[in-house]
Amino acid sequence: MGTKNIQAKLVLLGDMGTGKTSLVLRFVKGKFFDYQESTIGAAFFTEVLSLDESIVKLDIWDTAGQERYQSLAPMYYRGAAAAVVVYDITSMESFGKAKRWIQELQRQASPRMFTALVGNKADLDEKREVDNEEAEEYAKENELKFFETSAKTAQNVNELFYEIAKTMARTC
Ligand code: GDP
Ligand code: MG
Repeated sequence: MGTKNIQAKLVLLGDMGTGKTSLVLRFVKGKFFDYQESTIGAAFFTEVLSLDESIVKLDIWDTAGQERYQSLAPMYYRGAAAAVVVYDITSMESFGKAKRWIQELQRQASPRMFTALVGNKADLDEKREVDNEEAEEYAKENELKFFETSAKTAQNVNELFYEIAKTMARTC
C-alpha cells in the first residue's frame, strides 16, 4: 500500500496565558521558554508527522494575542480539521473560557471538526483549581478528546499532536 499524504489545518483556542504558544513551541522546537511574553507568538507553524501509512502535514495556527478579545475572526478556524482548546489547570476561569470556546465551535464550526480539550500546566498540580475527573467528564459529554499536558515537562505533548495526526489520517 502506498503512503497517503494529508494536509490539515489545526487551530489553537483558549484564554491568554494558558500555554497555547508554549505547547506549539514544545512540540515543534522541543523547547520550553519560561519568560515568554504571552502576547508574543509566531502565529503559524507547519509540522510534518510520519505515521505508519501516512504522512500528515499539520498547519498549526496559533493566535498572536487576539484571543483576549474572546472572539477570533471566523476565518481563523474556517477550514480547520482540528481544534485544540486549552485551559490552565491552575485557573478555573480559564476552564470556563474553554467551555465557551467549545460552545462557539459547536455553533460555528463544521460538526466534523476534531476537537481536543487540553488542561495544560499539569506540572503545577499543587496549584490545581480544575479537577481532572470533572474536566474529563465534561469532555466525554461533549465528545472531545481530553489530555492534561505540560509544555514545561513535555508531558503528553507529543501524544496530543500525534493523536490529532492519526485522526486526520483516518478521517481526511
Ligand atoms: P498563551 O497566551 O496561551 O500562548 O500562553 P503562553 O504559551 O504564552 O504561556 C503563558 C505563560 O505560561 C508563560 O510564562 C509560559 O512560560 C507559562 N507556561 C506555559 N505552559 C506551561 C506549563 O505547562 N507549565 C508551566 N509551569 N508554565 C507554563
Ligand atoms: Mg500565545
